[in-house]
Amino acid sequence: MDEFTEMRKRMVDTQIITRGIRDRRVIEAMRKVPRHLFVDRSLWDEAYDDHPLPIDNDQTISQPYMVALMTEALELKGDEKTLEIGTGSGYQTAILAELSDTVYTIERIAPLLDKAKAVLSELGYDNIFFKAYDGTLGWEEFAPYDAIIVTAGAPRIPPPLMDQLKEGGRLVIPVGGKYSQELIKLVKRKGSFKETNLGGCRFVDLIGIHGWKE
Ligand code: SAH
Repeated sequence: MDEFTEMRKRMVDTQIITRGIRDRRVIEAMRKVPRHLFVDRSLWDEAYDDHPLPIDNDQTISQPYMVALMTEALELKGDEKTLEIGTGSGYQTAILAELSDTVYTIERIAPLLDKAKAVLSELGYDNIFFKAYDGTLGWEEFAPYDAIIVTAGAPRIPPPLMDQLKEGGRLVIPVGGKYSQELIKLVKRKGSFKETNLGGCRFVDLIGIHGWKE
């Protein structure tokens, strides 16, 4: 077992399983995806620690537990079409690609998207489609989606994302103020939405037409 495999195993045991993540497939994916490759080499020794890390353009890669919590809430079985808003480093994208059939991911900062694309293709993922765009508008062309995840904090849930969710689909998004949000899960049933609050969190801003102004 190499050094990073060892670090990943420890991360999953101490941060993910002990905090109540139960979905076997999520646990396996977190054990498998080499998180360190999504951050700068100078941060490799911290890549599996219990906190978010900086990436380029003043953005962050979420804490491992937050990635696990949000992913588990999407209830992925393997045959889903999943939409992700906020590609960032591409780490969460890799986890989704392990657990869904196809992932559509949107990032507003093109250089971040290009970097993520390079890492993900190097790792061999061929079920991910990328777009540099304002994700608060969703990705109409391939809608509806079984699962939608937003990894930036929104002042309110962008209506296009609710529209682009399939019947029975799950949407997970941090909603609230600029400095703290609540993690909200919506399930679409007969055109209406069942809402659950998964707890407090802190994300960088979702910037766009249905997000914060730049
Ligand atoms: N899931 C990422 C987290 C990145 S931080 C990871 O694992 O690394 C959130 C990202 O959302 C940032 O890269 C930011 O640029 C992006 N973002 C913010 N507003 C956006 C929007 N309207 N559309 C797409 N991406 C957006």
